[in-house]
Amino acid sequence: MNAERIYLSSPDVGELEEQHVLSAIKSGWVAPLGPDVNAFEDELTARIGVDHAVALSSGTAALHLALLGIGVKPGDVVLTSTMTFAATANAIVYTGAEPFFIDSDPVTGNISPGLLEEALTQLRAAGERVAAIVPVDLLGKAADYTALEDIAARFDVPLISDAAEALGATHAGRPAGSFGRASVLSFNGNKIMTTSGGGALLTNDEKLAQHARYLATQARQPVAHYEHVDIGYNYRLSNLLAALGRAQLQRLDEMIARRRELRERYKEIFAAVEGASVLGADGDEHDNVWLTAVLVNREKTGWTAGELSEALAARDIESRPLWKPMHLQPVFAGSRGMIDGSSEALFRTGLTLPSGSALTAEQRERVFGAITEFLAA
Ligand SMILES: *Cc1c(COP(=O)(O)O)cnc(C)c1O
Repeated sequence: MNAERIYLSSPDVGELEEQHVLSAIKSGWVAPLGPDVNAFEDELTARIGVDHAVALSSGTAALHLALLGIGVKPGDVVLTSTMTFAATANAIVYTGAEPFFIDSDPVTGNISPGLLEEALTQLRAAGERVAAIVPVDLLGKAADYTALEDIAARFDVPLISDAAEALGATHAGRPAGSFGRASVLSFNGNKIMTTSGGGALLTNDEKLAQHARYLATQARQPVAHYEHVDIGYNYRLSNLLAALGRAQLQRLDEMIARRRELRERYKEIFAAVEGASVLGADGDEHDNVWLTAVLVNREKTGWTAGELSEALAARDIESRPLWKPMHLQPVFAGSRGMIDGSSEALFRTGLTLPSGSALTAEQRERVFGAITEFLAA
């Protein structure tokens, strides 16, 4: 038996990335900023069709600066998806604002526009200041921005899109990362493409981009001595990592295509199983299919997502539940929200499966073989 562990989503880096990082080192631009940062930003704006990109040290930093950039402040309320990674909610808390969690559309897991509208109506009636809406593109499927942009416009609340998982996806023909006042990408090691660690803020608002650059470089005034009138952050992406990002961006479509092959195989396997289905499989030709998750109705399958996970673990194959909803997290106990149970149901029944573009043909067959064996048992 092959003892090599198979992970959910390992970095997919090779020769092209090596060349780019080496030539950045050889060019002498090891100092944090440099030509690869500028070029990476230009290539991101071209890819996503926005005017400005600011390369940052993480997606979390990008969320923080986007929220600060639209004026989110202590005491404000920010509405976000409960079905997300903690970074979304944490960035809201960094600003001193209160995260208010909205439950999921049961089919996609993305924020429910209906519940969002209900929450906005109630908060407005109570006279509370809602400073932003932060939808999240779950596992690489863009949220329903047609509905969300309409709601944001009617309530006159700015929208910041957490597209950390969705680079390469589209909604209604528009790229993920191009919605709202600003969008956020992550290039963490497990994302669709990586700079080992990094993120970006994308926007068409020049002032917002400038302000983010300024805050990300310790809020230094443009004078020779170190002069400060604001509290700043050290949030910029380094030049070496930007070089890695440029190579990854060149390979993005190829990496998405490889993940899509995996998605198609999973769909085939589970299509034959009564009670099992792939999350968000309908219309997934517009997704970047970052992670594939299976939903398990134990009454029909006779087995649970946890049992499948254990069977895979016994073969050294990683799988994980979907994000545990934020309103169930101890750190957010007592937080407010508009919750109808949809995300809890997804959390209880969902399992994310190995989806990485770096999986070899042999590793893929090991995963499919293990699932097929489990289903036959
Ligand atoms: C990964 C992720 C982030 C955070 O990005 P980092 O680069 O790891 O800081 C934020 N939101 C979502 C939805 C993510 O998946």
